[in-house]
Amino acid sequence: MESAEDRRAAQPYDAVIIGGGAAGLNGALALARSRRSVAVVDAGDPRNAPAAQVHNYLGREGTAPGELYGIGRDEVRSYGGTVLQGRASGVRREKDGLFSVLLADGRRLGARRILATTGVRDILPEVPGLAARWGATVLHCPYCHGWEVRDKAIGILAVDMDVAMHQAMLWRQLSEDVVLFLHTAGEPNAEQARQLAARRIRTVHGEVAGVEGAGADVRLAGGDLVQRDALAVFTRLEARAEYLAPMGISAVEQFMGATALGTAVEAGPAGATSVPGIYAAGNLTAPMTQVIASAAAGLMAGAAINADLAAEDTSRAVAALEATL
Ligand SMILES: Cc1cc2nc3c(=O)[nH]c(=O)nc-3n(C[C@H](O)[C@H](O)[C@H](O)COP(=O)(O)OP(=O)(O)OC[C@H]3O[C@@H](n4cnc5c(N)ncnc54)[C@H](O)[C@@H]3O)c2cc1C
Repeated sequence: MESAEDRRAAQPYDAVIIGGGAAGLNGALALARSRRSVAVVDAGDPRNAPAAQVHNYLGREGTAPGELYGIGRDEVRSYGGTVLQGRASGVRREKDGLFSVLLADGRRLGARRILATTGVRDILPEVPGLAARWGATVLHCPYCHGWEVRDKAIGILAVDMDVAMHQAMLWRQLSEDVVLFLHTAGEPNAEQARQLAARRIRTVHGEVAGVEGAGADVRLAGGDLVQRDALAVFTRLEARAEYLAPMGISAVEQFMGATALGTAVEAGPAGATSVPGIYAAGNLTAPMTQVIASAAAGLMAGAAINADLAAEDTSRAVAALEATL
């Protein structure tokens, strides 16, 4: 029997949004409120799912991620938008110029425009014990988790000295007890050593062999254990963009100075990619941004898609009018 999505493939949505986190849902909200037919396809694993709460989100401070996105889905549906559970496996352009979004389960959605908001995956350093504590006592971001561990015993796991110095100074703002584990980052230079000493940040030599305990106690390769309540780490951020490859869009390496941060899809300020009709927003294009900034980027991209569609609708209307003259 023909499904609702099959019928939609014949009669495409104005926009299909791939990814239903903050960016995708806010893009959908802008489009649905502009009376555009819109479907969000979401695989259901937003980046901050391991965290108990979302912080630095004005008006919803401390809400659980699942609750925040549930509210967002309800808001999109309240304006007539569709939210589907599913994973996009590819995008292709059809002969008539429309897009098809192919889902891993075989479904296909037709669309005039695509907004990609699938975010990034965090690749943790390969140290036993990190993954099990990720988002609870193994942390990446002082703005997301810092207040909750203020005045606690905090460690920094260094894999790159410039990044570790940046992290150390931000976490030192939250606690006087910060230990920098040099791990695989090498030695601080003379200026860095002076700064660490001035801020009373202790450095510990030797590779970290594992993280243990209810907090994030650090076991060194030599056998010593250093008690810590939380451990800050630097994760590589990899764009979840594989399904865009058939359209010639791939994620490119991002740098902070000489340090490789991960990959992102390149897009303009309102989300336009190198392929006309395909937009991208949120962590997928700006991996370092927070939830509220990702939502704002989704709104911008949704508005840009609406304007793009309005221009196309107007051209078609003019052509139809002229055909009657
Ligand atoms: C542990 C942790 C805690 C954090 N805490 C905070 C915090 O307190 N405050 C804050 O502001 N920021 C926080 N962040 C950052 C925050 O997670 C990001 O800013 C935010 O998630 C980016 O939103 P997004 O919509 O771009 O991507 P995401 O939220 O990652 O959403 C992407 C969505 O796309 C879906 N998806 C992926 N691939 C596909 C596909 N092929 N097909 C269909 N759907 C797909 C995913 O399932 C997901 O639902 C935290 C990050 C981490 C890792």
